[in-house]
Amino acid sequence: MKLVILGGKESGTGAALLGQKLGYDVFLSDKGVIEKTYKEELNKAGIPFEEGQHTAERIYGADLVVKSPGIPDTVPLVAELRNRGTEVISEIEFAGRHTEARMICITGSNGKTTTTLLTHHILKQAGLDVGLAGNVGASLAAQVAVKAHPVYVVELSSFQLDGMFRFQADIAVITNITPDHLDRYDHKFGNYVDSKFRILQNMNDKGLFIYGWDCQVVRERVEEACLQPQVAAFTYTENRPGEGENYAGMEGDMVVVRLNAREFRINKNEISIKGRHNVYNAMAAILACMQMGIGFEAIAEGLRSFPQVEHRLETVAVIDGVTYINDSKATNVDSAWYALDSMTTPVVWIAGGTDKGNDYSVLFDLVKAKVKVLICMGADNRKLIDNFSAICPVVDTHSLEETLAAARNYAVSGDTVLLSPCCASFDLFRNYEDRGDLFKEKVRQLAK
Ligand code: ADP
Repeated sequence: MKLVILGGKESGTGAALLGQKLGYDVFLSDKGVIEKTYKEELNKAGIPFEEGQHTAERIYGADLVVKSPGIPDTVPLVAELRNRGTEVISEIEFAGRHTEARMICITGSNGKTTTTLLTHHILKQAGLDVGLAGNVGASLAAQVAVKAHPVYVVELSSFQLDGMFRFQADIAVITNITPDHLDRYDHKFGNYVDSKFRILQNMNDKGLFIYGWDCQVVRERVEEACLQPQVAAFTYTENRPGEGENYAGMEGDMVVVRLNAREFRINKNEISIKGRHNVYNAMAAILACMQMGIGFEAIAEGLRSFPQVEHRLETVAVIDGVTYINDSKATNVDSAWYALDSMTTPVVWIAGGTDKGNDYSVLFDLVKAKVKVLICMGADNRKLIDNFSAICPVVDTHSLEETLAAARNYAVSGDTVLLSPCCASFDLFRNYEDRGDLFKEKVRQLAK
């Protein structure tokens, strides 16, 4: 059986290793450059590969194709494979066909990584042999090939889900759905929502589906659907969705979670990560861990000890009484909304970058209430300036150095300088990690 892998990064290399172990005749093809570490892994395993091109004849000869989620379905090579009736799947689908492990799968527009890492942290601290996979951690296929765990927490992007067909989640989470990546979905929001809901396909009545009830898009879709699994919704209100049987909700500052007649409570201030959005993430993680049978003390301990996640509302330093926060991963309006919502001091807000068709109007009230100055950091800041000039002072800068100099100028003791850009990073940086790393480096230099 011939297996062709398209894309030679973490997931592709992992799929190649699993394919080889299963006895497939494997060939990996990447149109770009393959990173050195992956090349070494492929060479070590004796797996043939090409880079800088796709040799069509060799690819069309495949019995099965595993495609990287980064490659759109619309590229001619993939369209032609599907025309020919060749099965094209994602790495998670491929791995899922070769393991009996329990799968806790997490998707949504925002909060995937945080919820995945938090769930994994609690389970691991509780003593479970649990793996981390999907968009975070090592490839699921590689783990299944070499050292399989009996349980995985898997972060799933919509692109991964698009290549999943028979995969079955035991516990599925949809944190929220807001417009993102619409260029890959024919500019139709409904297509993107459909993609997220693929996480539910094949679940049976033994499964648990956990979703964000305050997100109207998700709630309405759930209300319309006829769902196989048990359902538990989480809300930041005192409402009790699901007739009060299975849910997570608030009671003052207390987070109250009920599942299968067990009730867990924790004060939201005890949770290590802050902000309303992180209460949501914690609620989803608690429900998943309760379903896994984890004891309440272990859940509470995990929530208290969870370390901050890099580039997500990450406190970098306090300099001259000013707190500097790196939220470089806030690449869309919704995530910046939650960052601003969680601020408890006046904010010097740094935003800007590559605009993804943002509608900034949802931020106006929060900006009016909390932001003393907006410092724009982008190659072209016109849209931000046009949107916010009437609401707060706006400064136009085009490099990190200029931005930080301006921030320093405006911030006084007690303020917070918040990098929560609302935009992608590609105009001035390699990616959001690069933007966050450089921000942290320069801020730390200010302290010297
Ligand atoms: P994802 O993996 O879905 O991109 P992350 O956990 O990496 O999510 O967080 C991305 C950004 O969104 C960060 O700026 C973070 O502070 C913010 N965020 C995290 N959780 C949520 C949530 N539940 N709702 C909205 N924004 C969130």
